[in-house]
Amino acid sequence: MVLAELGRKITGALKSLNSATVIDEKAFQDTLNAVCRALLESDVNVKLVQQLRTNVKAQIDIENMASGLNKRRMIQAAVFKELVKLVDPGDYSWTPTKGKPNIIMFVGLQGSGKTTTCTKLAYFYQRKGFRTCLVCADTFRAGAFDQLKQNATKARIPFYGNQVETDPAVIAKEGVDRFKEENFEIIIVDTSGRHKQQESLFEEMLQVNNAVNPDQVIFVMDASIGQACEAQAAAFKKHVNIGSVIITKLDGHAKGGGALSAVAATKSPIVFIGTGEHIDDLEPFKTQAFIQKLLGMGDLNSLFEKVTELKLDDNEELMQKLHKGQFTLRDMYEQFQNIMKMGPFGQIMNMIPGFSQDFMNKSTEQESMARLKKMMTIMDSMNDQELDSLEGAKIFSRQPGRVARVAKGAGVSNRDVQELLTQYGKFAQMVRKMGGIKGLFGKNGDINPKNLNQGQMNKLNTEMARMMDPRVLQKMGGMGGLQNMMKQFSQSQKGGQGPGGPNFGFM
Ligand code: GDP
Ligand code: MG
Repeated sequence: MVLAELGRKITGALKSLNSATVIDEKAFQDTLNAVCRALLESDVNVKLVQQLRTNVKAQIDIENMASGLNKRRMIQAAVFKELVKLVDPGDYSWTPTKGKPNIIMFVGLQGSGKTTTCTKLAYFYQRKGFRTCLVCADTFRAGAFDQLKQNATKARIPFYGNQVETDPAVIAKEGVDRFKEENFEIIIVDTSGRHKQQESLFEEMLQVNNAVNPDQVIFVMDASIGQACEAQAAAFKKHVNIGSVIITKLDGHAKGGGALSAVAATKSPIVFIGTGEHIDDLEPFKTQAFIQKLLGMGDLNSLFEKVTELKLDDNEELMQKLHKGQFTLRDMYEQFQNIMKMGPFGQIMNMIPGFSQDFMNKSTEQESMARLKKMMTIMDSMNDQELDSLEGAKIFSRQPGRVARVAKGAGVSNRDVQELLTQYGKFAQMVRKMGGIKGLFGKNGDINPKNLNQGQMNKLNTEMARMMDPRVLQKMGGMGGLQNMMKQFSQSQKGGQGPGGPNFGFM
């Protein structure tokens, strides 16, 4: 069962509580059973599933629950919490330091995705502003150097290899030394694998390790082996000092749930997951965000909650700025990234009033995704000053040479860049307006229309309508339709929200 299906099944089980007339012991048991069944079908270890069952039960006592409590929500929240625990590998603290060489060595079996992931990670850090490079120390696999070279060239990442030398430790050292001299900050060493765990692999791994003395060893594992990941992670851990783990191929494989939970169970810090063959199919692994995405929350009601979650995740700063009505190009970039990360684009668009799927057919959905990607490519060619300016668009209008430079870097026309800036201008304006609506932001920085009085609500409606494409607004039944939607939204918000706890879009 692929992960998306697992998510659908669990969501389905939790949702069934919404339609139950009474939440009694039986309804609770049925739901919990369905959740556990879905996990087992996704190859999650029986013991771990049993643990989840026990933990959820320990939190829920239907019979003696105070009548004021919302049982449905309590159950859903308990399951959510335990799902997060299931994939939580514990704390992880290593991050690269700017201004010094950080040497990262990749290890793993052949075919696990090392070379692909090396490039993805290099690309990831490059976009974060690190001077990044790659070293190919795989002398075992024919064509290994060419593969790395091809990937690196595509992403414009400097690389090092030596097709004459046969000792991987020597090549690794050569490459690392050279890049150190050139003041690179992230030096990623790709090593060779073997088809199975064997002494020769571990020996070679140790030699390369000793030659380059890495700051971080990353173990790459293929999700398709499922629960067997546990034994493999343990074997590698015994031989080298593994600092973190990347699990690849979580995009398609039936055993993804098994792989993730098995690795988490070994308390090996999973730092990223690979979700495709493309260079940006690499996602930082955050347990809560992962489970949220797994459950595929996608409806109008959770739009504002989603914004809040994003903030909880890594966006405290953004929320601060939103309060003040500030919004930079980089903020927009990061929001797009979040949208893309959160999975099926349509789902997110579904949550934005006016972009409901009814109005978007399949092809336009794909087009929107492509457009988003294109806009991100354009922003990739901007420099920090442009991305971080509070007047991102003005910098460009004052110095039009910047438009041409960015267009050239991104391989698009000047007009494409202008269009992006126009789009940004609209968002920034919206944020400015929203920042100006008193009471929209709650104490914790979350957006909550419940806090608004009628006048403020009307103002928010008007602003939203203004931001929206007039054609879409028309399809929604004009301002009246929008207002109805907002009304439904605020009513559904009032529906028995327990204190604190995660909010689920499907409730
Ligand atoms: P290595 O032998 O460990 O270096 O593995 P490679 O990087 O050569 O990857 C082996 C295969 O797995 C290649 O065909 C990659 O395109 C593919 N691959 C790697 N990561 C992912 C992923 O996250 N998703 C998918 N679908 N394929 C991947
Ligand atoms: Mg390789």
